[in-house]
Amino acid sequence: AKKVMDLAVRLAENHDLPDDALYTLITERNEETALFLRNEARALCERIYGRFVYIRGLIEFTNYCKNDCYYCGIRRSNREAERYRLTEEEILSCCEAGYGLGFRTFVLQGGEDPYFTDERLCTIVASIRGLCPDCAITLSAGERSHDSYRRLHDAGADRYLLRHETADPCHYGRLHPESMSFDKRMAALRDLKEIGYQTGCGFMVGSPYQTASMIVKDLRFMKEFGPHMIGIGPFLSHKDTPFCDMENGTAELTLYLLSVIRLMMPKVLLPATTALGTVTEGGREAGILSGANVVMPNLSPAGVRKKYMLYDNKLSSGSEAAESLELLRESLSKIGYGIAVSRGDSLVI
Ligand code: SAM
Repeated sequence: AKKVMDLAVRLAENHDLPDDALYTLITERNEETALFLRNEARALCERIYGRFVYIRGLIEFTNYCKNDCYYCGIRRSNREAERYRLTEEEILSCCEAGYGLGFRTFVLQGGEDPYFTDERLCTIVASIRGLCPDCAITLSAGERSHDSYRRLHDAGADRYLLRHETADPCHYGRLHPESMSFDKRMAALRDLKEIGYQTGCGFMVGSPYQTASMIVKDLRFMKEFGPHMIGIGPFLSHKDTPFCDMENGTAELTLYLLSVIRLMMPKVLLPATTALGTVTEGGREAGILSGANVVMPNLSPAGVRKKYMLYDNKLSSGSEAAESLELLRESLSKIGYGIAVSRGDSLVI
């Protein structure tokens, strides 16, 4: 126990540890170390970002997907999913409503839907840019070509979220069908950064077949890649996927890793994700207290929210819903945090 506490202290001081020490920090974690890391992470985050949480309005614009990720509820082979895509008008009215509520970042997330050609998506991005010039536009639409990413950036997109899912190529192969490639995923992330996006990567905690040494690889990859944003949340099974019987990831390990990530990458933008809020009551607030500083309430039209079911029981109501920002404000104020009405750009250079 003393050994792992010493490692935690070293991590808080040096913002890094050798891989074997990170491994021990994960495998031999205990409540005392978790509490120490959580307090250090939270204090560090507060020194950098203050007691403010950035909000992003999440617009789930399509649940059509050409991919077949074994974990995901909107995978191509799930015949039970009721498919939808939003029109440009619907997307714009989400942004308009969000702007009124105080959102200054919109995240357009969706499956890899070939309907959204560069032309169509660029038109939408340019319209949002025209509608709210003072907002950040984040895309999360999967892998596209370098040229496509560049055109979308030129059209006005500032940020892109593309989780790497796992930094271990073999593990990647066990989570995805052969049609998907680890190298392509990594190349896409490098393209995004090179083009000038504020870039986000990330992974699921407790995804099937994940081991502690794979998590160490994720941490090492992220530290070297230098993302502006990192999304992590527990893996949660979905009944109509090949992983329906797999065990869920835990809030406990997710919170622990949020603290470790904050300490390793002090300035990174780190959301307390919907999956974390779904796996345990108060998960999102616990995430903020563990070093996260972003939440992404759902701005999608009410009628489609239940259709963007990545995993069973995904939350989209209560303070997860953008229109109930007051509820979120209350729950954050109870833990001493306010909501920042600003774009909330990354401080990572
Ligand atoms: N298609 C885009 C992509 O691949 O980046 C964006 C949408 S994708 C559904 C967004 C993220 O949801 C994925 O990166 C994955 O980590 C997460 N996700 C999918 N299924 C999940 C599950 N069963 N549990 C937790 N997270 C899941």
